[in-house]
Amino acid sequence: MSRTTDILVVGSGMAGLMAAIVACSRGKRVTLLSRGCGSLSIGSGCVDVLGYANGRPVEGNPLDALDALPERHPYRLVGRDGVAQALALLRDVCARHGAPLESSAGGNRRVPTILGTLKPTWLTLPSGRGELLEKAGSALVVSVDGLKDSHPALATAQLRRYPHLAGISWHEAHLENPIPGAHRNLSPLDIARYVESPEGVSWLTAGLRKALRAAPADVVLLPPVCGLGDAAWQAVSAAVPVPLIEMPTLPPGVGGLRLYTALKDELREHDVDMVENARITGADCDGRRCAALVAETACGLRRFAARAFVMATGGFMGGGFLSSPGEAREAVFGLPVLQADGAPLPRRPEDWSDRDIFGNHAFASAGVMVDAAMSPLRLDGMPALDNVFFAGRSVGGYDFASEKSGNGVAVATAWRAALSACAQC
Ligand SMILES: Cc1cc2nc3c(=O)[nH]c(=O)nc-3n(C[C@H](O)[C@H](O)[C@H](O)COP(=O)(O)OP(=O)(O)OC[C@H]3O[C@@H](n4cnc5c(N)ncnc54)[C@H](O)[C@@H]3O)c2cc1C
Repeated sequence: MSRTTDILVVGSGMAGLMAAIVACSRGKRVTLLSRGCGSLSIGSGCVDVLGYANGRPVEGNPLDALDALPERHPYRLVGRDGVAQALALLRDVCARHGAPLESSAGGNRRVPTILGTLKPTWLTLPSGRGELLEKAGSALVVSVDGLKDSHPALATAQLRRYPHLAGISWHEAHLENPIPGAHRNLSPLDIARYVESPEGVSWLTAGLRKALRAAPADVVLLPPVCGLGDAAWQAVSAAVPVPLIEMPTLPPGVGGLRLYTALKDELREHDVDMVENARITGADCDGRRCAALVAETACGLRRFAARAFVMATGGFMGGGFLSSPGEAREAVFGLPVLQADGAPLPRRPEDWSDRDIFGNHAFASAGVMVDAAMSPLRLDGMPALDNVFFAGRSVGGYDFASEKSGNGVAVATAWRAALSACAQC
């Protein structure tokens, strides 16, 4: 069977969802196809734009630091205005669907994580106001009995090592498990789902108020358990007398799911055709023009024809790249995958990572090189395809992990790739 659309977007992480939103907002018929749901839905929901540039923390507005990045960095290709427009669109969509994203006037926010580190990030939900901790004289760190990866003693021990937080008086509290009888460790997602109910809101607010009576504090730090949407967050935060900060956790994060739901709601409003559990296995190309992609779906092999394509298939983890001993390539078109500086990956896979955990890991920056239209390039630097554009983690020229730029690059490159695709229709 064959289906035709204006633009086929592959991947439903941050990049694929944003590319589909940009294209449908310009009146194009869009199909969004994906095998799984990407890393957005398991992440913290923080939109990192640029936490570190050239190894140094970015103190002010990260948009002001983009011009100092190397020329082949995706932000340089999109340009500062483009990045700003893309982020503004993301904020607008998320605000309309109950997931308002905020920035701090003082530059990157530093959000305390469940492991007691401070995560630099640009946009957060209202529960990510990390600067409130920096102004507090006392803080209460809360967990729930049986919640995995959540240890207030660990978080406080680590946080008090930051000199500017050392003067805070730290307290800890554990709330009783509201879901007894679970036959596995609870995740914040389990509790957040419970807090979507009126009983869940009462349980959490009563528990926090009791803990604050025992250990008064200026601010409460807790795992992301205040519901899945804005209504539960509003109810809980209004009923507790001091500000709450939700700490990003190990996956599954709840904040990312809040953004994922908001972006999907926008696509549903635009009647975008969404095909899930489908894996692109091949491309039908005539020279540099792609006519269709072929996918394994629940109904067998299907051909998806389109005028233009946005590939937002992620990196090694997302499924966008394939590797075999000593070699890596982009999974659908077989495009070369290079390190951030344009060098090929080392021949020995042992050299794809560095002994230093914060060192230069070749696998983490590997990507498809693109031009300013997000059009993929061959090894000789010439365009590889005319109507196919790349976005997100599959794009080369940056290292999201060391820069803290993952969702920011995904949003900016998706915006640019979708506009390039629209120009083809
Ligand atoms: C655990 C974790 C936490 C993170 N936390 C943060 C954070 O707090 N802030 C931040 O800014 N960044 C964070 N990041 C980084 C950020 O999530 C990514 O850099 C960014 O979201 C990349 O999105 P993407 O859409 O390009 O790729 P992905 O999210 O990897 O999505 C790829 C999509 O492509 C689909 N796909 C792949 N191959 C095929 C195929 N052949 N056929 C069909 N579909 C296919 C996948 O199923 C998936 O839907 C985190 C990443 C991880 C892994």
